[in-house]
Amino acid sequence: MEKYLSQLNEAQLAPTLQKDGPMIVIAGAGSGKTRVLTYRIAYLMSQGVDAFNILALTFTNKAAREMKSRIATIVGDSEAKNLWMGTFHSVFAKILRFEADRLGYPSNFTIYDTQDSDRLIASIIKEMDLDKDVYKYKQIRSRISSYKNSLITVKAYFNNPELMEADAMARRPQMGNIYKQYVDRCFKAGAMDFDDLLLKTNELLTRFPEVLAKYQDKFRYILVDEYQDTNHSQYLIVRALSDRFQNICVVGDDAQSIYAFRGANINNILNFQKDYDDVKLFRLEQNYRSTKNIVNAANSIIDKNQTKLDKVVWTANDEGAKIKVNRSLTDGDEGRFVASTIFETKMQEQQKNSDFAVLYRTNAQSRAIEDALRKRGIEYRIYGGLSFYQRKEIKDVLSYLRLIINPSDEEALKRIINFPARGIGQTTVDRLVVAANRYDKSIFEVLKNLSTIDISINSGTRNKLQDFVTMVESFQVMNQTATVFELAEHVVKVSGLIREFNKDGTPEGVARMENLEELLNGMKDFVEGQKELADTTGSLAEFLEDVALATDLDADKGNSDHVALMTIHLAKGLEFPYVFIVGLEEDLFPSAMSMNTRSELEEERRLFYVALTRAEKQAYLTYALSRYRWGKLIDADPSRFIEEIDDEYLDVITPIEEQRFNPMLSADIFGDVEPNKIRFKKPKQPTFKKKGTTKSAPEKFKISTPKNLKPVAKTGASTNLFDNNLVVGNIVKHLRFGKGEVLKIEGVGSDVKAEIKFEVGGVKKLLLRFAKLEVI
Ligand code: ATP
Ligand code: MG
Repeated sequence: MEKYLSQLNEAQLAPTLQKDGPMIVIAGAGSGKTRVLTYRIAYLMSQGVDAFNILALTFTNKAAREMKSRIATIVGDSEAKNLWMGTFHSVFAKILRFEADRLGYPSNFTIYDTQDSDRLIASIIKEMDLDKDVYKYKQIRSRISSYKNSLITVKAYFNNPELMEADAMARRPQMGNIYKQYVDRCFKAGAMDFDDLLLKTNELLTRFPEVLAKYQDKFRYILVDEYQDTNHSQYLIVRALSDRFQNICVVGDDAQSIYAFRGANINNILNFQKDYDDVKLFRLEQNYRSTKNIVNAANSIIDKNQTKLDKVVWTANDEGAKIKVNRSLTDGDEGRFVASTIFETKMQEQQKNSDFAVLYRTNAQSRAIEDALRKRGIEYRIYGGLSFYQRKEIKDVLSYLRLIINPSDEEALKRIINFPARGIGQTTVDRLVVAANRYDKSIFEVLKNLSTIDISINSGTRNKLQDFVTMVESFQVMNQTATVFELAEHVVKVSGLIREFNKDGTPEGVARMENLEELLNGMKDFVEGQKELADTTGSLAEFLEDVALATDLDADKGNSDHVALMTIHLAKGLEFPYVFIVGLEEDLFPSAMSMNTRSELEEERRLFYVALTRAEKQAYLTYALSRYRWGKLIDADPSRFIEEIDDEYLDVITPIEEQRFNPMLSADIFGDVEPNKIRFKKPKQPTFKKKGTTKSAPEKFKISTPKNLKPVAKTGASTNLFDNNLVVGNIVKHLRFGKGEVLKIEGVGSDVKAEIKFEVGGVKKLLLRFAKLEVI
């Protein structure tokens, strides 16, 4: 047997060695599904399957790259590079580029990112004179997206009275017309949005049997990771392509289906066995990722879902530490808890930043965590924000390049026609848009034919427009001979972009210039890299395609050491030794918007399952009693998900009773900041009426550093008074509770707690590692 196969257990070997026919691997988190897919590809190649005939579809491009490089170590670089691997979007964008003319698109079609789509939709709403508070462009975009992912074309929409009625009921009777305008305008601009990449692929494979046959013949072996999250459009593509040879292998976990809100259809995995004849079903049961405590806790959670396939997940790994549950007073305290725990753990366990991940339900939650990490000087990175290529200055440059290869690209043109400023006002642009619609031409064509078109533009402006056209055309000429890098370097100079970015000398200006330099470096890499890759030609169109589909996950070169901050949705498939799941509060997680039906709640629970199963060694569940949301301080209750986990797997590190009566405790034990820096802003004062305390909690927040009292440790980083031989009977002084007597000491190592009777506030149990005490 090949050596690499010894890195699989028996259950994993079975699907790996099953060369032909339809098959499905259904297995819980961390059981090696992705590993099986990777090794199966290597195995297929060792069995003589040509790399050109294998297609692997992954959840992120980064996952595809990692898989490919793993395969390369087994089968060799030169073989591996011929594999077609990537996300649905990136793979089918490539195919569409070959076949674009059949669908009436230029092969250099632009890919509109979400920002472009938003802008176009907003401008259509404005042109149609609709109320933008009723027709919110983001909502419209997501509606259009869901039509496309369900293969509801404009024509199908207008043939479906139910859909039209639903939109009318939602006070948006013009929805269909906006959809139509949007589709027409994209088409005229030679642009496809993300959803088009799937929709048009389906159109291509349905309308042109010879094209379908060609790709069926090419992709004789198809593999799909995270199959539970495919949408209808993706499902149909996979079905069509695999129909002839039926060598289709999908892996997934129904318990990790978390994209229903974006059209993913869990039935794709549940019904797979009905879609093909003679499907082989494999199950993997051993989890290699996590400790027993984590695996068992995750099992106990997912058990609460009614809709699920029965699965066993167990692990031979260590018992591990219990899952730590921490309650904080505010979201700020929660952030400080996370930061100080990371700080401590790094010290005590010699861990790197990259061993930690903080996962949250919504992006807005990152701010409090970021603030705390920054104060601690801990490097972090937020994922899921703008990709590098979506930053303003970068998009400006890219818009020039987009216009060069596709002059019809309306969004690119509108973005740069007057940037840097060249005296072409918004009114002129609006008139150009109207003329383009009237003559059914692109704006650039209108510009080229200004003299023959009925449009009210004065001669001064006409000259400026003419200059703009001449400049773009000169770039187009250069593009025929120059590399992407040379062209971009020329464009940023001649267009005036460099001067514009460089002119103010502010730190922001410097950062913009650095980004520009980074972009040019990336282009140089692309030009050099393409010589080695079989599946690229190094064209500008290809470069733009790569960057349109890049996410900030892709930019991670793995050479910097940072804590990862991301939403749970994004964390799918990943793993980290330490995972914090923050904001575990009712109405936040589970989300208030997902509590109307059982199926929505079950999706939230699956999301929690995904989050918990990212952890290898230690998971932390945190929640706050009050949190700022939508600009208001909201009281919060702990998430039901915490209660749903069997107690035996949990270690509640802030006893609820203590916190309830001593609201400052959470800041005290875990706050870990210099006392005089603790500021509680007025609006942040929680009201405890619901909890039944009569004490005027807000009063207690007026904390000032008592005179003549030195903190034991300034940063609190390694305060461990137990080293100072704290014993029962000692009289200690605490920064906030004043004098007290040590009644009891319990626990070992870093978990040592002291029970202390304070003059103010009574008996408290403090974790000595964090408490700021002075023996007097
Ligand atoms: P998820 O459901 O989260 O996507 P998965 O089922 O795809 O998880 P993998 O990511 O493939 O699981 O594997 C989880 C971890 O276990 C990885 O670190 C992987 O390298 C390791 N692993 C898988 N199988 C084995 C094995 N047979 N021996 C040792 N380690 C393994
Ligand atoms: Mg996986």
